[in-house]
Amino acid sequence: MESHPALRAARAIQVLPPSVAERIAAGEVIERPSSVVKELLENSIDAGATEIAVVLEDGGKGLIEVLDNGHGMAPRDLALCLQRHATSKLSSLEDLERIHTLGFRGEALPSIAAVTELSLLSRAAGTETAHEVRLTSLGEVPKPEATTFGHFLGSPHGTRIQARGLFSQVPARLKFLKSQSAEVAQVREWIERLALAHPGVGFRLVSDGRNLFSLRPQSEPERVRTILSGGEDYPVVTAANDLGFRDRVEGSLHVRVHWLQGMSSPQARRVVQVVNGRALRDRMLQQALLGPFRQALLPGQFPSAALYIEIDPAQLDVNVHPTKTEVRFLESGKVFREVHKLVDGMIARKGAPAYAAGLAPALETPASPAFASPPDTAGAWAAAEPAPRFQLPFTETLPLTGTLPSPEPERASAFVNPAQYVGTLFNTYLLYDLGSELVLIDQHAAHERIRYERLRKAVLHPASGQPPSQALLIPEATRFEPEERQKLERRLPWLAALGFEVELFGDETVLFRGVPVAWGTAELRVRLKNLIDRLLHLDEESSAKASGALLDETLFEKLASEACHSSVRAGDRLEREEATSLVEQLFAVEHPWNCPHGRPTVTRIPRARFEEWFQRRV
Ligand code: ADP
Ligand code: MG
Repeated sequence: MESHPALRAARAIQVLPPSVAERIAAGEVIERPSSVVKELLENSIDAGATEIAVVLEDGGKGLIEVLDNGHGMAPRDLALCLQRHATSKLSSLEDLERIHTLGFRGEALPSIAAVTELSLLSRAAGTETAHEVRLTSLGEVPKPEATTFGHFLGSPHGTRIQARGLFSQVPARLKFLKSQSAEVAQVREWIERLALAHPGVGFRLVSDGRNLFSLRPQSEPERVRTILSGGEDYPVVTAANDLGFRDRVEGSLHVRVHWLQGMSSPQARRVVQVVNGRALRDRMLQQALLGPFRQALLPGQFPSAALYIEIDPAQLDVNVHPTKTEVRFLESGKVFREVHKLVDGMIARKGAPAYAAGLAPALETPASPAFASPPDTAGAWAAAEPAPRFQLPFTETLPLTGTLPSPEPERASAFVNPAQYVGTLFNTYLLYDLGSELVLIDQHAAHERIRYERLRKAVLHPASGQPPSQALLIPEATRFEPEERQKLERRLPWLAALGFEVELFGDETVLFRGVPVAWGTAELRVRLKNLIDRLLHLDEESSAKASGALLDETLFEKLASEACHSSVRAGDRLEREEATSLVEQLFAVEHPWNCPHGRPTVTRIPRARFEEWFQRRV
């Protein structure tokens, strides 16, 4: 039998030999071939490379080679860079507060050296010869030798790093590697993430002699389309926040979103976040970005979209995780609001694919040429944001009926060009002749949207100031981790404001005595558990604003189906006045382009298409 641990003889403490210590430290940074590639690519990007090639053999187990045309390294640095905490990217504690590079910890190369056979070859800008260092075992680094290597990707300077036999000395790690194709796929995914973060850099991937892909330097929207569209031709919609005179001053926050309109998928794989050139997966950013898309997509679908943020580095802590894939924002509430507002506005203007599939006019170019400007002239983006929302012009305006909010004055006055109501088609679609195109509006989807927004307003901004709450016969108890108690306590008022009657019971139970009426009671336990989880993960500052989004999500299904049941049906015949009133109401709501389930409300067919069909044009 095993003796009690305390009864075993104490073992003397030893300082681990460097070879063991290095391998342990390397474990944090290097998990698989893609982690090596990621670190090497980041170094190449930090070195100002505009072209980078990645070469793999045997899925990276045989060889990982990265070749760049960056500024290179002097012979002295070639030897130094292999030491832990050796970096050219920061020199003082203050520098840590404003990091402009992807690397700064000085850990990648020593970590890679601990688990591979590493060779570095580099020619520094402005020098005549390249130098090489080969490291076959851990310990002292041999002196760099002059070699005759000429050009790096067509440039006289640059660096080539070769890492062979990954984990051949660490069998435990080797066992955890997946199939060759799975490892290559991971490498590819990391290259794509970094390529999205750095559109101005060209990338190439070669695996076992096969050219898997190459990307030339591109503009940001072009790069987003190339990588996220999967080869299909979707238009890129871009929105950027107003930079104004605050551009580039301290505390600045630039936000851009590029969205492949009309493309969605059941996974969040094509949702990208880039903060100061770093590709991330941040919970708060994900919520801020995806929340508004619920207005435009079917439930369970994710958009193809890339979010870019440039923020004063002093507002950002990038030193959260050894692989630097997590960050912390000093003012996360501010960032949340800025992203949410931008995306929400973009969707309100362009929520639905405006033209019937395949019927867009030939002239419509997806990305405006103004977007070809490099990212540092981002100011032009906001200005170049194409024309505002699609406005349906009216010839006849009938007074609004019922209790619906009246349209905002600027929207109403924007109805300038005459449009002719043509009639209804299949008792389902309302047709409008705009002169240059035919507009079709799905009467059921339109009415659903109007009803949904009205219901949502009633729940979120009821006249009483309190959403109607419904007492539960048997209070529902939900558990949480005791450490979370304080956090939860501070956030409970938000739930109360939304119509939940809640109290803390002991150190690990939340008691729900009432829920908002609109919530209903189906599958209550699971939904309450999710609600608490989400509440706990919202960060302090954003929870005030985000609670709106939180409610949106949880109420969504309920409200949407309620809206649906009391809506005008497809097949109900509408009179001209009813049709006009419906359309007017539609364009007075916040998100006119989709029904609450994400189906489009409006579709357009350009006149030119009719002319083609009837062969009126050559
Ligand atoms: P970090 O990137 O955190 O500084 P690394 O271990 O990744 O640490 O790299 C150490 C140093 O080696 C870098 O600071 C840089 O000076 C140099 N270096 C690494 N790769 C390259 C490269 N491809 N081109 C030029 N210099 C490089
Ligand atoms: Mg690095």
